Amino acid sequence: MTVATPFLRILEDPPLVRMEHPMALAPPPDAKSRTPRLLTVKRAWRLTPNMIRVTFGGPELAGMPAGREGANCKILLPAPGQDRAAFAAQLQSGPRPVTRTYTVRHFRENDLEMDIDFAIHEPAGPATAWAKAAGPGRFCGFSGPGPTKLTQYVADWYLVAADMSALPVAAATLEAMPRDAKGVAIFEITEEADRQNIQVPPGIAVHWHIHPNPHRPSVAQETFIRGLDWPSGRIQTCIAGESGVIQALRTFLHKEKALPREDTYISGYWKIGLIEDEHQKVKRLDAKA
Ligand SMILES: Cc1cc2nc3c(=O)[nH]c(=O)nc-3n(C[C@H](O)[C@H](O)[C@H](O)COP(=O)(O)OP(=O)(O)OC[C@H]3O[C@@H](n4cnc5c(N)ncnc54)[C@H](O)[C@@H]3O)c2cc1C
Repeated sequence: MTVATPFLRILEDPPLVRMEHPMALAPPPDAKSRTPRLLTVKRAWRLTPNMIRVTFGGPELAGMPAGREGANCKILLPAPGQDRAAFAAQLQSGPRPVTRTYTVRHFRENDLEMDIDFAIHEPAGPATAWAKAAGPGRFCGFSGPGPTKLTQYVADWYLVAADMSALPVAAATLEAMPRDAKGVAIFEITEEADRQNIQVPPGIAVHWHIHPNPHRPSVAQETFIRGLDWPSGRIQTCIAGESGVIQALRTFLHKEKALPREDTYISGYWKIGLIEDEHQKVKRLDAKA
């Protein structure tokens, strides 16, 4: 399918991703992954009280690159009540639908199934509202995936930190690590029952913190990370979550700990008080400054 409309080119263009992810050494997504797909929900359920897992399935996933668990993707949302044919036409010729950024959690190539985990927050934005209503037969657009965050696991010690929005990238990264990896993972979740069963290497110590109201700034991750015994040797990070938390941690890692940027994946996934489009604008301005 040839796609030439300007709004789709915007979705294809990953410059921010490239700038933020200096460890992303994988080749750019293939041409097929640049074409928005019209995906169909196979099932959707509460993985934990504040996380909905949506499994997409069907032939529209044929040709999707495998091994991109943890990579970004764009979810393009139909307008409430919009029928499939009208949405398919909009994907082809615009205008650009409401779009949000998510993470490929699992892709089962042989079954043509993909999971995306949606952290649930209130008041719900359009992506959260869509996920809450998702069930078999519902549809959305999908663009991506981009490259994975850590493509080479070369550290003596790993630091992983995530809130609910970044649990998918953190979990995928931990599951892809060599089984003899050592380090620390810290997760900030909304309630105790949001703990997930992640296949973490035995040498990674996992800590769960409860932060019931994500709209209030949290210093728990920063306090915890500052208090760690930092070993010598090469360190790699996979850290993402609310922008204020990330800003403080970025300063700590780069300025105080002098970790090289090419070893630190650290990214703001959302910002208190801003919808994603506003947050992306702020990130672009920050990147230029
Ligand atoms: C690279 C990348 C990968 C991401 N992967 C995932 C993923 O796999 N799963 C996931 O759940 N999220 C992920 N996110 C975060 C997700 O894109 C944002 O949370 C997005 O704002 C959700 O869209 P929305 O339509 O629900 O809310 P918006 O319309 O964007 O925002 C509505 C309101 O909700 C607030 N808000 C947004 N996100 C949250 C949150 N997580 N908790 C509390 N309040 C929030 C906003 O500040 C705003 O006030 C990712 C973000 C990036 C940049």
